[in-house]
Amino acid sequence: MVALKDLSTPIKSNWCPGCGNYGILTAVKGALVELGLEREQVAIVSGIGCHGKIVNYVNVNGFHGIHGRVIPTATGIKLVNPELTVIGFAGDADQYDEGWDHFCHAMRRNIDMTLIVHDNQTLGLTTGQTTATSLQGFISKSTPFGSVTSPLNPIANAIVSNGTFVARGFAGDPRHLQSLIVEAVRHRGFGYVDVFQPCVSFNYLNTYQWFRERVYKLDEQGHDYTDRQKALEKSFEWGERIPIGIFYKEEKLTYLDTLPHIKGKSLAKLPIENVDIATIIETMK
Ligand code: SF4
Repeated sequence: MVALKDLSTPIKSNWCPGCGNYGILTAVKGALVELGLEREQVAIVSGIGCHGKIVNYVNVNGFHGIHGRVIPTATGIKLVNPELTVIGFAGDADQYDEGWDHFCHAMRRNIDMTLIVHDNQTLGLTTGQTTATSLQGFISKSTPFGSVTSPLNPIANAIVSNGTFVARGFAGDPRHLQSLIVEAVRHRGFGYVDVFQPCVSFNYLNTYQWFRERVYKLDEQGHDYTDRQKALEKSFEWGERIPIGIFYKEEKLTYLDTLPHIKGKSLAKLPIENVDIATIIETMK
């Protein structure tokens, strides 16, 4: 089983001091140790954005993909080698702007993987622009007079898209976030965790203090995460009080469960020596 020290890499972080990404990194490493996995059993994928560097800072199999395509890459890895624990990391622009279509369809496909979204409500890597989750009125380089559009609600969208594990954490509470990531990975199906991740350099609105004054934990309020209607109601709570924790969870067949010809088999391990594709290629000419 992996120990915390085995997950470190020699690569020096260039995230800004105080960035919420550090809380997520701490929670992820703690979750991998708690889950008792070996390094070789885990594959992580990231997209484009500050979050994407996380593949450099966790010593497991890693793939730094392109903008908005974390889910397709992670899906491919999982379908070809279902024995791997696959975790995708995306930013809010990465997933909720460029990668939005993948998000909704991943929910209903229920691939057995985990998605963690570093939701800092801005584009940090490109020095501060507005994203799909930026609040109305948010001032940035792309909206100098304030964003005029309403923010997207990813939690509500995940629930109505038939997501089977929908949760939200806060990078300022890594211990609680770790417990959510552990539950998401253990969930047999698509485990989704949106994380409030303060960007201390370019988002002066949604700060650690802003979140600390508002977030409360659903499990401490007796929320029943098996009730989809209640989960949906909770997903619309915003303002003075903002819930974090598991909104919704249900057990359902995974995508691979519905494909009997490859279920229980690892495509990566099927023998290919005697496969002759010449006939198929002939039909394509
Ligand atoms: Fe973090 Fe923002 Fe700095 Fe990027 S720009 S490393 S999100 S604080």
